[in-house]
Amino acid sequence: MSIRIHPIKAFNDNYIWTLINDGNKQAIVIDPGQAQPVIDYLDSHDLELTSIWTTHHHHDHTGGVAELQESYPMTHVVAHSDHTVDQDQTIKDGSTVSAWGCAAQVWDVSGHTASHMAYILDIDGNKHCFCGDTLFSAGCGRVFTGTIEQLHDSFKRLNGLSSQTLLYPAHEYTANNLRFGLSIEPDNEAMQQALIRAEEKNAHGTPTLPVTLEHERMVNVFLRMQEPSVIEGVKAKKNIEDDKSLTVFAALRELKDNF
Ligand SMILES: [Zn+2]
Repeated sequence: MSIRIHPIKAFNDNYIWTLINDGNKQAIVIDPGQAQPVIDYLDSHDLELTSIWTTHHHHDHTGGVAELQESYPMTHVVAHSDHTVDQDQTIKDGSTVSAWGCAAQVWDVSGHTASHMAYILDIDGNKHCFCGDTLFSAGCGRVFTGTIEQLHDSFKRLNGLSSQTLLYPAHEYTANNLRFGLSIEPDNEAMQQALIRAEEKNAHGTPTLPVTLEHERMVNVFLRMQEPSVIEGVKAKKNIEDDKSLTVFAALRELKDNF
């Protein structure tokens, strides 16, 4: 099965990840916060929208769903019951969603919101994880209606995927996240290199995404709570009671909120 994955840009820094089947000219979009950029892209590439998947209820991820349902009446909407859209298939942790015979496993990766889903799509044995606002390259989502404990658990779970898994976050926040990471780990060479590349890509309007989990393990402080350099970097900025993974993770999230 040949499925291409393309980011449609929306708002200032959102990506609407689009799965494209060139064989039958059909497309699936994930988190369409706006309808018009999707309609424009599909029209110019002669594609039919067959499905919409949502990760969480925030408007910049769901705002275009109703208009797309009107424009493409055959579209099958996949969402959790909390996502405030009119879904055809209700999902929760453990559900399976299909993309032209390829299976996507649904994982609960809450924390940013109380019911945040990720889709882990297997294409010919390669895993592609659409993680919404849970994990960003070199960073993590803010805690809104979920809890920091949930977000920490979600990161642990995502970190259990194979190292070559490709991650597709919904925002272009990479460069700023790397600047924060370097404020914690100034000597991290992988982060320094990644920031140079991210700034180059930003200057050309090229996405820094997707990224492999292997790369994230080197540049994302929210996956590096057990590294002495991260614990030391946090302690230099904030008093923490212990070095437990959750304590360091929560301190990093608080520091990032004020970065
Ligand atoms: Zn969000």
